[in-house]
Amino acid sequence: MIVGDRKPLQEIAASLQGYRNVLILGCGSCVTVCLSGGDREAQELARELNRSGFLDGRLPELGTDSILRQCEYDLVSAYQKIPPHTEAILSLACGCGVQTVGDVFEPLPVIPALNTTFYGASSEAGVWQEVCQGCGDCVLSLTGGICPVARCAKSLFNGPCGGSQNGRCEIFTDTPCAWALIYYRLKKQNKLHLLHQVREPRDWQPAGSCGPRVRRRTGIGPATK
Ligand code: SF4
Ligand code: SF4
Repeated sequence: MIVGDRKPLQEIAASLQGYRNVLILGCGSCVTVCLSGGDREAQELARELNRSGFLDGRLPELGTDSILRQCEYDLVSAYQKIPPHTEAILSLACGCGVQTVGDVFEPLPVIPALNTTFYGASSEAGVWQEVCQGCGDCVLSLTGGICPVARCAKSLFNGPCGGSQNGRCEIFTDTPCAWALIYYRLKKQNKLHLLHQVREPRDWQPAGSCGPRVRRRTGIGPATK
């Protein structure tokens, strides 16, 4: 899932300067799960802004709503209603949702209330950890299901750097060394031989170094845009 953190309240308030009617729009998917951008958070944000005193009493009228996924153009255009007189949308979605809502309701300004941070998984209650960087050429089958791109501080591909100590990363000493995790996982799987395969320098084009990536549906009829 995509993880995001709410921007500081003062920054959000400043971005609303000059608007008289703003719709705060939550997103019901990833950011609801990580408790930063769902329906409840949209209502909380409206309350906090109203109480904050930022903007010297020139805070706009704030309405709230939410939709299951802000990142689906068809869903947003079919189901999201914008109240009359709305001058801007304050989106609690990730950057994908902010941009999609902006495309649907162009030229209505859509302002991000979150900082989109990473692709993560919940490792324990209330904790999300980055585990994937969407590199476009997954190597988890070779690394015991542990991602060296996202979880190694140097994104190393051929084993640990020289600084790994006692299973900890030399850069972030409270973080497990990804390559130590990979080693012990492969050992449990009787697949340590995979570590003897030296991999070629990586082609990072699938990771998005050549502009925005696009996926077109294949195999089930004509592709739709
Ligand atoms: S190897 Fe690439 S696709 Fe696979 S988990 Fe890591 S970043 Fe994600
Ligand atoms: S100590 Fe481990 S996780 Fe940290 S940079 Fe080196 S190989 Fe990567």
